[in-house]
Amino acid sequence: MTINKRKPFENISIPSPNIPNIKRRYSVTQDIVSFRRCPRQYGTFNVHKYAPAYQNQTYFGTILHQVLDRCHTHFHGKIDPSTKGSLPDNRKILSDQEILEYFNDLQKAETEKNKKPIPPSKIIQYFIEVDNGLKSQGIRNIPQETRLKAVRLLQYFNALEGSTLYPRVKDTEHRLQADRTDHILHGVVDLLVDSENLEANPADCEMWDYKGSSLLGVNTKDLENYEFQMRVYAKLYELKHGVFPRKAILYFLNELDGSTCPSQRPKNALLEVSITSNEIDDAVKEFATTVLKIEEARLNDQWNPATPGDISEKDCTICDLRWDCKTPNNGQGVKLRYP
Ligand code: SF4
Repeated sequence: MTINKRKPFENISIPSPNIPNIKRRYSVTQDIVSFRRCPRQYGTFNVHKYAPAYQNQTYFGTILHQVLDRCHTHFHGKIDPSTKGSLPDNRKILSDQEILEYFNDLQKAETEKNKKPIPPSKIIQYFIEVDNGLKSQGIRNIPQETRLKAVRLLQYFNALEGSTLYPRVKDTEHRLQADRTDHILHGVVDLLVDSENLEANPADCEMWDYKGSSLLGVNTKDLENYEFQMRVYAKLYELKHGVFPRKAILYFLNELDGSTCPSQRPKNALLEVSITSNEIDDAVKEFATTVLKIEEARLNDQWNPATPGDISEKDCTICDLRWDCKTPNNGQGVKLRYP
């Protein structure tokens, strides 16, 4: 055989590789709701994965969710069977001063590499466990005020709602997903709660979702997004269980805040989202449209900021991109601090 020394691979043909059909996974909150709130912020932090400098909001929402999840686990005795049926701390509430004293003692012990003080309550123990987990993920330097407020709200929620809500909880962090041909849609419902006095049956269950904000502080667009989220969850729930849930409930934890624990649930803490089949169908269509918009933005790598008025000024105030964005201050942008 003669080998062409100048073109040794001339007679070799290599078939082009088969491009695997990998479906992208879309989370209802992390992708769809985030993109609907502000495509530019979504593109920067969720797609390009830049680390935001200001992580207060993420911290606050995550710590509330994860500590409450531990409270449910505690009541149902899933980690330690001896806690089954008991409320963490048995409704005990520490004052702000006692919480701060513990935080200061802990910080001192960590700085001086001494033995750490024992947490003065179960809620604080769970809080510190989640707080350490978040620190290991790079979410740190959270103002003491934010940490204090989180513990306060958790104590209030536990004392006010624990004895009636925890026994009704059938599942926490309930995972739902659906294969939508070209992508996978998934979401996590905070709580599945049995309707009082009814047999355990998927059609009798309520879906509950915790929000760290107060209802009165939420702007119209965000409220629409929350309702949209619950309607998509209702569809996913139907795909998994064959029936729609009985109710979809939003719980606004910040409505509990104050100098003392409320003796009854504040009027605005709980909001029932209407989930008629027409509303659910519309939400599912909107979901599909949003996925197409995300795919288009990815293709062109073009992530436009939210339109002024569609996003709360509060969200723009804590956005790292505000210095180079026309949207804040009603479309006026932010005044730069240097000449
Ligand atoms: S400043 Fe506001 S509109 Fe601009 S990118 Fe940030 S969140 Fe979006």
